[in-house]
Amino acid sequence: MITAVREVSVFGDAIAYFNEAAALLDLEPGMRRLLTRPSRQIIFSIPFQRDSGELEVFTGYRVQYNFARGPAKGGIRYHPGVTLDEVTALAFWMTWKCAVVDLPFGGGKGGVTCDPTTLSMGELERITRRYAAELVEVVGPDKDVPAPDVGTTPQIMAWFMDTYSMHMRQHVPSVVTGKPLAIGGSRGRVEATGRGVSLVTLAQMERMGMSPRGTRVVVQGFGNVGSIVGSMFAERGCSIVGISDVTGGYYNSKGIDIGAAIAYAQEHHSLDGYRGGDRITNDALLELPCDVLVPAALEKQLTVRNAPRVQAKLIAEGANGPTTPEADHILNQRGIVVIPDILANAGGVTVSYFEWVQDRAGYFWRESEVNERLADVMHENFARVGDIATMRNVPLRTAAYMLAIDRVVQSMNTRGVYA
Ligand code: GLU
Repeated sequence: MITAVREVSVFGDAIAYFNEAAALLDLEPGMRRLLTRPSRQIIFSIPFQRDSGELEVFTGYRVQYNFARGPAKGGIRYHPGVTLDEVTALAFWMTWKCAVVDLPFGGGKGGVTCDPTTLSMGELERITRRYAAELVEVVGPDKDVPAPDVGTTPQIMAWFMDTYSMHMRQHVPSVVTGKPLAIGGSRGRVEATGRGVSLVTLAQMERMGMSPRGTRVVVQGFGNVGSIVGSMFAERGCSIVGISDVTGGYYNSKGIDIGAAIAYAQEHHSLDGYRGGDRITNDALLELPCDVLVPAALEKQLTVRNAPRVQAKLIAEGANGPTTPEADHILNQRGIVVIPDILANAGGVTVSYFEWVQDRAGYFWRESEVNERLADVMHENFARVGDIATMRNVPLRTAAYMLAIDRVVQSMNTRGVYA
């Protein structure tokens, strides 16, 4: 039995996945060296004034991991756990995520170490504007294009866009994606990550001969990804037996009424006190009897501790990095299929790409057009990853990394390395 849990950096864990695929691709040592280092890491102080008048200082980050295929792309996270290590790992994953769905972007990520739930709208606006102002020289439609992530919203993107535009003395909607519709957001962007998770999960279920009707689904996290995944699966006839948010888990073997749970969470700002299921711990949630498990919260949720007890047949990673490499190994050995984060949750950045395209063209698409194009991108690249997995006899995660690394390396080799 394993008793000690290895404490490794998030970026360290992320590199472990990369190395496995890189070995199978016979990647040259020089290219490996280059791809396991971020291009640029920026750390800065964000002075901001509380509503009380008190002056505080937060730390802001932006990591631009790789530019081979285009401008850096990735969200901004507002969370107390944000560190340079975490932001670097997230920027690293964005590089492979954009490549696995063949978008003309590199990878980036940003963050502010703060707890947005304790901040007023005014405080959030001031932090965001200062954060954006600090990055004016290094972001831009052809440099680095941020978007929402954990703890950030379309409104925060609107403040970012406005601040950047003010500094540039011109209207620049394509500097950031995930904006509200009123200022150049894309129809379907809010639902896109959850929609993408559902699309690839349903495709994989079909491969495994699982019909949606009656399939038991557990969703960890009830934010923008988890709540949408829950309602999309419920629409297809699945039974959502478990949900959770920061306040804990809720289990109902007969199926949770997702519409009611979303309405409850909207009204009460969390699921706390929700009565449509038995209250359970977050740990118990991940080990519930079910067919499909969707971790859609934060990193390192599936570990050596709980991986041996996971009961799902299929896991779709709605979150970034929810499975540690050791846990992944256990899940593979147990025959549990994992659709990796870089593929499963790529729907969000795919519609971010559509938003960037629409902003630059100044011409906006119907929601049905956005959703159709999203489905095309997800299905096509899901099939490619599946083919590599079959051909090379590797798990979907390794196959997804192989496809993504190969695309990035092709771009790097074609451009040549400026060394
Ligand atoms: N934060 C999201 C992700 O992790 C979206 C990034 C984007 O749209 O640029 O994929």
